[in-house]
Amino acid sequence: MSEHAALTILSEEEQIFRNAVRDFAERTIRPRVAEMDRASHVLPEIVQALFEMDLMAIEVPEEWGGAGSRFFMSILAIEEIARVDPAVAVILDVQNTLVEIPMLRWGTDAQKCRFLPRLASGTVASFALSEAGSGSDAFALRCEARREEDGFRLTGRKLWITNAGEAEFFIVFATVDSKAGHRGVTAFLVERAASGFSLGRKEEKLGIRASSTCELVLEQVFVPHDQVLGEVGKGYKVAIETLNEGRIGIGAQMVGLAQGALEGALSYAKERMQFGKKIADFQAIQHQLARCATELEAARLLVYNAARLKEQGRPFLREAAMAKYYASQVAEHVASEALEIYGGLGFTKDCPAEKYFRDSKIGKIYEGTSFIQLDTIAKSMLAEGIS
Ligand SMILES: Cc1cc2nc3c(=O)[nH]c(=O)nc-3n(C[C@H](O)[C@H](O)[C@H](O)COP(=O)(O)OP(=O)(O)OC[C@H]3O[C@@H](n4cnc5c(N)ncnc54)[C@H](O)[C@@H]3O)c2cc1C
Repeated sequence: MSEHAALTILSEEEQIFRNAVRDFAERTIRPRVAEMDRASHVLPEIVQALFEMDLMAIEVPEEWGGAGSRFFMSILAIEEIARVDPAVAVILDVQNTLVEIPMLRWGTDAQKCRFLPRLASGTVASFALSEAGSGSDAFALRCEARREEDGFRLTGRKLWITNAGEAEFFIVFATVDSKAGHRGVTAFLVERAASGFSLGRKEEKLGIRASSTCELVLEQVFVPHDQVLGEVGKGYKVAIETLNEGRIGIGAQMVGLAQGALEGALSYAKERMQFGKKIADFQAIQHQLARCATELEAARLLVYNAARLKEQGRPFLREAAMAKYYASQVAEHVASEALEIYGGLGFTKDCPAEKYFRDSKIGKIYEGTSFIQLDTIAKSMLAEGIS
């Protein structure tokens, strides 16, 4: 359906890549979606297949085993995987946008040589900022990093950490000076095998159930100096700048979700008979589909625009916030409309629309809630005007 519109704005290279990811998602992920949702667990062979398809290190240069590609390709990959399963999409979203991009940007050569080949070849990773008391107010974090001669000892708990169930590698944010506010926040590279590191509770979630979301428990975890990412006391910069880019990925996840939900509803409407007609022959249904398709296209353009700006090194903060804000709103609305087009069937586990609807809710919550996106947009408008 959006094939038509998308072709006008994707280069040939991008179209080929997108089609390859779509084909992969249909063949490899689609048959296992319901099973993974029911089990609240991603199958290891699906994660393995993401690595084999080079989707877990899209921007990592080839010298470290990555695909050596571009940010926009990550966005296309996230969108296409989310079209089939938004839970699987967030696994590669976190790996690419929240872990590898900051590693490439702030990592030392030694850190890149040591960790990026692993991240490209089979090691799943997480980005651990949130805590029980610090979500939107992320830099009110309490996890403490006590200085020692050779490094730091980290003690505290991290909440809501995506991929933590499978991850072997974590970017963990902790403070070296709790009285210094955001200026104490530092980013650390932590391995799951580190002594004192363990997983706490795994969350039982409404949606994206196959994606693990767990608590991290750090008890005097030793992290050597050479595993500080960026500068001590500058972790807030790592976190903010990473999330500014990362939220374009969530926008892409939401666009893919809406696409998947709408495609399903469109084919059902063309088959389902009521009053002696296909329900797609009723103008009310046609308009419902048309409104959803228009919203989806607008969301996709916002996401692609933010991604293109970021890739060209131009300012993109406001556009990224708009893309995530709007795409998550569209995903929730389209998923809800799609569910209703299935009638009673849409309200059951037998119908894929039910899962898209549950999965859509997270878009307005993680990587900055919708209120936080609106705050960002408003601040930027007040400072710089509208265009
Ligand atoms: C499934 C899932 C996966 C996640 N993955 C990760 C992860 O991998 N890594 C990570 O670090 N975190 C992760 N998170 C955490 C996520 O980023 C936070 O949940 C989110 O930032 C919101 O924080 P909070 O839950 O503490 O809500 P709160 O900040 O307590 O917000 C509660 C409500 O108050 C509103 N609010 C807060 N401040 C303001 C304000 N200034 N103005 C107006 N309204 C406001 C919010 O919009 C929200 O509606 C994940 C969360 C979930 C649910």
